[in-house]
Amino acid sequence: MKKAHIITIGNELLIGDTVNTNASWIGSKLTESGFSVDKMISIPDDYTPIIEEISDSLQKADLTIVTGGLGPTHDDITKKAVADIFDSELVENEAVLNHVKEIFETRGFIFSRSNREQALVPECCEVLFNSQGTAPGMWFERNGHYLAVLPGVPYEMKHLMDKQVSKKVEEYIQDLDTNIIEYFRTAGIPESTLSDKVGDLDQFTSNGVRVAFLPNPSGVTIRISANSEDKLVQLREMLQDRAGKYIYGKGKNLRLAEVLGELLIEKNMTIATAESCTGGLLSNEITDIPGSSRYMLGGVVAYSNDVKKNLLSVSQNSLEQYGAVSKKVALEMAKGVAEYVGADIGVSSTGIAGPSGGTEEKPVGMVWMGFWINGEHFALRSVFTNDRLINKERTVMVILESVRR
Ligand code: ATP
Ligand code: MG
Repeated sequence: MKKAHIITIGNELLIGDTVNTNASWIGSKLTESGFSVDKMISIPDDYTPIIEEISDSLQKADLTIVTGGLGPTHDDITKKAVADIFDSELVENEAVLNHVKEIFETRGFIFSRSNREQALVPECCEVLFNSQGTAPGMWFERNGHYLAVLPGVPYEMKHLMDKQVSKKVEEYIQDLDTNIIEYFRTAGIPESTLSDKVGDLDQFTSNGVRVAFLPNPSGVTIRISANSEDKLVQLREMLQDRAGKYIYGKGKNLRLAEVLGELLIEKNMTIATAESCTGGLLSNEITDIPGSSRYMLGGVVAYSNDVKKNLLSVSQNSLEQYGAVSKKVALEMAKGVAEYVGADIGVSSTGIAGPSGGTEEKPVGMVWMGFWINGEHFALRSVFTNDRLINKERTVMVILESVRR
């Protein structure tokens, strides 16, 4: 497989001011294109590490992508360092100069000497014209190894990767493996239980097929990859067989709320939400999906007992006898909101979001979720974590997944 390295330059990355989204974005692009990304490294805006890392990658990787440090400020020294690696003079590029001048004119800024420096590029490079900003990208070659140097600004970098680098890769780097990558999204099952269910994978993963379990608060994603379609057929079947119940769909960015929405449209059903501990997050998640107005009728954020009573017809007796965080109240909230807005489905959340509060009987992270689906009534109890935001997020996912099933 052809190898790729990613080098992100910038002090802001190392001190943690900027999240290194460039590296992950480029990593996934190159993987999709058929490269094996073998190294991803962040280094400061310092001459020596820049020289060392890029020189090393130019020997070891077929393609190296560098981002950051191309700006006109004193701390941006990537261009100078790269010119030195190739023993090349910095020369003014007329097309870039005109482009930079034009940008300044349209924005009404004064064009200064440091701006003029934006148009300097190493003589030996091919300029990757950057229509989105002032710093041009650069493409280099040495002994059959290729290097792209791109600006750090994420949207400029993405633009250059999509419009310019991809063309160069096609032109210069052949024999890329086909890399089939598929993502299966699951919900309602922890990573360890899921991997136990899926079981032994040795028979599938021996010849270049890879399987990974990627947990995040919205559920575990199973990623499978292989260099040929027929290798994947059996693996897909096996996954459906052993864990199909938990898989709600395919696609890296597929959202559970989207799948549920399609289902509701198909069944011609409507939904309403009664939220205490999720404070509107459930409604937000449902309405993030375009077209959700076809099935989402409305919701009530019922934080206080009074709102639970007055808008959702939760009984005073239930609140006193069982408390707001109880099965009884969750059920009444779900039914109450369904009736209040006239929806087929009512769902509710009530819990101890934390981080403090809670008792032995009702610990932090305990949530009751109520469901009223066409007159069918049930409730679920979960004990999540001590983290308030994670508890809200998990509650939303469990509710969506329970309605989907
Ligand atoms: P420009 O000439 O357009 O300023 P540049 O190459 O000089 O480009 P930098 O000055 O290094 O870019 O960074 C510009 C912006 O991009 C900064 O806001 C920085 O936080 C952001 N940035 C830089 N590197 C990354 C990265 N790896 N991931 C995400 N954002 C980044
Ligand atoms: Mg920088």
